[in-house]
Amino acid sequence: MGKVSIKNVSQYFINREGNKTQALADINLEIKDKEFICVIGPSGCGKTTLLRTIAGLENPSSGELALDSEKITGPDPRRGMVFQEYSLFPWRTVIRNITFGPEMQGMNKEKAQEIAEEYLELVGLEHFKNSYPYELSGGMRQRVAIARALANDPEVLLMDEPFGSLDAQTRNVLQSELLDIWYRKQITIIFVTHSVDEAVFLADKIVILTARPGRVKDIIDVNLPRPRNRTGPDTNQLRDRVLKILAEERVKK
Ligand code: ADP
Repeated sequence: MGKVSIKNVSQYFINREGNKTQALADINLEIKDKEFICVIGPSGCGKTTLLRTIAGLENPSSGELALDSEKITGPDPRRGMVFQEYSLFPWRTVIRNITFGPEMQGMNKEKAQEIAEEYLELVGLEHFKNSYPYELSGGMRQRVAIARALANDPEVLLMDEPFGSLDAQTRNVLQSELLDIWYRKQITIIFVTHSVDEAVFLADKIVILTARPGRVKDIIDVNLPRPRNRTGPDTNQLRDRVLKILAEERVKK
């Protein structure tokens, strides 16, 4: 039994015209504790839907999901989420963005402040605690979003293309920082990306989805030693393999 268990999950949406869209078809996944999973697949194949369903923000049309064998029925602080962008409260300072979650969970202000400062330090932003999100670069905003999710002490971190809008250099830096956090906090991470390079650099396992409706097409074990190189024969070979599998899905469309 995995940390996160996804059994026969399908997801349909009905739009305003009454048309039915199937986003996910019969997804089965067992994700182990402390694993770093990257989910990759063609645009619109249901990656975000899968993450939102694990977060408990969507109910599956059929099938079941569980965390530690306990059925997922809605959002829970044990499953934290980091979105692509614009997820911070613009009217709150950096530190008050982070204290929000713990305070919502009933923690007193002093304790929440202490925890927020600890996580700000972890992401290297302790000197920006009184800044507002608009005063920060994209990379810094995503660091705050990560600190905010971690402040709720999640066991599973769900990340939806969190570095997708960053420039390549910042993105590389944040990937390394995230690996460091993952290692230190010993959490499970499920990370959606459409970058093969990113998946190969980060993941223990890469879950490749088919074009919509998303089904699990392949699960690739990434056995490259850590810390990883971004280039080199083994990395390049794996990247080629994933790209070839993804290309099959483009041909189908
Ligand atoms: P991805 O993240 O892989 O790009 P999504 O999960 O965002 O894909 O979307 C998968 C499909 O489900 C798309 O066709 C999208 O339009 C549809 N979809 C997602 N959420 C909704 C919703 N709330 N209502 C209707 N259709 C939706």
